[in-house]
Amino acid sequence: MPIGQQIRQLIHPWRRRSLAAVTAIAFVSGFGAIDRLYADDLSPVMAGQIAASSQRVARVVHTLWRGSDRLLGPLFGHYPRLQLARYVGVLEQALGASDPAADAWQNAIERARALASLRWLIEAMDRSVALALTRGDYDSASTLATELLLQSRRNGLLQGQAAAEGYLGVIARRRGKLDEARAHQETALALRRGQNDRAGEAQVLMNLGTVHRDLGDFARALELQIAALELRRSLGGTERLDLSYRNIALLYREIEDTEQAKIHFEAALESSRRNLDPQSLAGALGSYASFSNDIGDAAAALTMAQQARAIDASMGNRPYVGLENVEIGRALIRLDRDSEATAVLQDALEIGRGLAHREITGNALLHLGRLALRAGDSALATKHLDEAIRILSQAGLKSGLSEAYAAREDLALASGQLAAAIEFTHRRAALREELLGTRSGRQLAALKSRYERAEADQRIRLLSLNNEVQRLRLGQQALLRNIGIGVAAALGVLLVLLLRRYRMTQQLNRALQQKNAEISAHEARLEAANAKLSTHAAELYQAAITDPLTGAYNRGHLLRQLDEHLRCANRQEQDLSVLLIDFDHFKSINDEHGHQFGDRVLAGGIQIVRQWLEPGDMVGRYGGEEFIVVMPSRDVHNATAIAERLRDKVAQGLANLSGTRRRPTISIGLASLRDCGASTLEELLGAADVAVYRAKAQGRNRVVRYAA
Ligand code: GH3
Ligand code: MG
Ligand code: MG
Repeated sequence: MPIGQQIRQLIHPWRRRSLAAVTAIAFVSGFGAIDRLYADDLSPVMAGQIAASSQRVARVVHTLWRGSDRLLGPLFGHYPRLQLARYVGVLEQALGASDPAADAWQNAIERARALASLRWLIEAMDRSVALALTRGDYDSASTLATELLLQSRRNGLLQGQAAAEGYLGVIARRRGKLDEARAHQETALALRRGQNDRAGEAQVLMNLGTVHRDLGDFARALELQIAALELRRSLGGTERLDLSYRNIALLYREIEDTEQAKIHFEAALESSRRNLDPQSLAGALGSYASFSNDIGDAAAALTMAQQARAIDASMGNRPYVGLENVEIGRALIRLDRDSEATAVLQDALEIGRGLAHREITGNALLHLGRLALRAGDSALATKHLDEAIRILSQAGLKSGLSEAYAAREDLALASGQLAAAIEFTHRRAALREELLGTRSGRQLAALKSRYERAEADQRIRLLSLNNEVQRLRLGQQALLRNIGIGVAAALGVLLVLLLRRYRMTQQLNRALQQKNAEISAHEARLEAANAKLSTHAAELYQAAITDPLTGAYNRGHLLRQLDEHLRCANRQEQDLSVLLIDFDHFKSINDEHGHQFGDRVLAGGIQIVRQWLEPGDMVGRYGGEEFIVVMPSRDVHNATAIAERLRDKVAQGLANLSGTRRRPTISIGLASLRDCGASTLEELLGAADVAVYRAKAQGRNRVVRYAA
């Protein structure tokens, strides 16, 4: 992107314009002027100087550009020449020089056409239309705007279309074709809104407002101008705010709302000064001056009109110089400075006639006529006033016309022409009525629109309040909902955790139960094993101490038990008896019936002995077919009885055993501790042995008590 373009994008177009102007003037007028230019706003004196310097600089720039383009242009080709023409065009416009600017943009159009560059062509045409409008060259403006519209439509460039429609609307209005103007501006408005071009929309609203004013729809005009102003304000910039304020001020002036008109004229002036734009400042000063004349503030009107004229003259704007001269003349008449007034109004008349400008000519003649009347020159006064009446009524300038009728009435009275005086009185009354009607209609419309606007504002405020309440209510609901959701979510999480916990506990319980069952089974098995083991041990012990054949205790156990009982008896000085049992003729039994039979006799005999033993007594095998019965605590008598019973039962029991020749019997030797005076095991057993020997000797199957 070229550096120039970058800079231009950085700076706002109107600021840029002012900057260019200021730079140029500083360059021309010397740097001494710079201090004054830094002031916050633009004074009319400075504005005039700036405007004059600008025109000089513009002429120099134009000459330089033309010369260099002619001499050096052919060396560079179309593109650099196009860019140069564009820069010159922007600079000349910034300097307020419309003719040189128009020339530069016309040149840019030709270059852009040669390059077939649509973008630059549209821009150059846009600028050219605007300049033609400023010059008042409506034919050229119309041709260019139509071409701009066609080119933009063909290439689908909405921005270009909107600009062209806007220009065509302005041209149509200036040519008095108000319906056409409105149609163009409404199309432009739709296009700007469609592209969301807010600045463009504000411009169109303003133009449309002017069209509506001309159409007589005063309320709509005011509404549109205020909408344009608000839109521009909302955009934040100061660009063209002055124009908006001025348009609104003029509308208020028409309905004679002096206060509002003043406020808006002041705002327009302020805005023009801030924008450092001499042209706009001149416009604001001129319209404010005219208004001040209307309300009778001649001093203010004079100052402002003179300031405006200075700027306009510097810029070579003849029509405006003419209009300001009329205002200066009006003010001077009111200030009774008649000769000065005559001179300035003569100037105005000359300009008006030169430009065929009916407003300037008509008004200049009106006031010159009033001056002649004052001076008593009836002939001149009649001449001026009659011409004024003709021109003003042709131009439809009713306010001036009414004033002319009044002056003519005075003149007729002064010269005694009563009929003529009555005629002018009638005409003026009719016009006044018309004016008053229009004015009050407009006032009513403005009031209505103001009321409607206030009502709409109220509605909007109410709506926004409602929205706020609604928003708060929704916020509250959302909050409650969120809290609800939060609580539900927390409860849900808690529930899930509890469920998990419950399931885990259940699983643990099941595992625990299973383990317990396993342990119980284990314990049961262990218990069974222990029981088996103890049974086994008991069995083993029993086996270890028992004689397998007879079931009596074996010799080892028998002797250990006997020894223990003996010690106990000795210790406690109790008695103890032993029986030594010996089976009779057992060798012969074995021999006669076999060894197995002998075994049966032994087992059967000892079975009977065990069956008939007293509790506490025991029997053991001493060896072979000899057995010992131990009887703790029994004395010899007691033992004798038991021994006798045992012998008898064995003899009886074994008698039924089988058919043998000899009945098996037993012999018993009895020895008691006290009875035989023994104290050791050997002595006791020896005593029993002696006793059994004697029983054998006495014939067997008997009980013998030991005797020394
Ligand atoms: P006495 O009437 O004088 O006692 O005569 P006896 O034959 O019984 O005496 P002896 O001492 O001469 O013989 C004992 C016999 O007992 C000898 C032996 O073979 C027999 N005997 C010892 N123990 C057993 C045994 O366990 N079974 C069998 N069948 N015989 C045995
Ligand atoms: Mg024996
Ligand atoms: Mg024997």
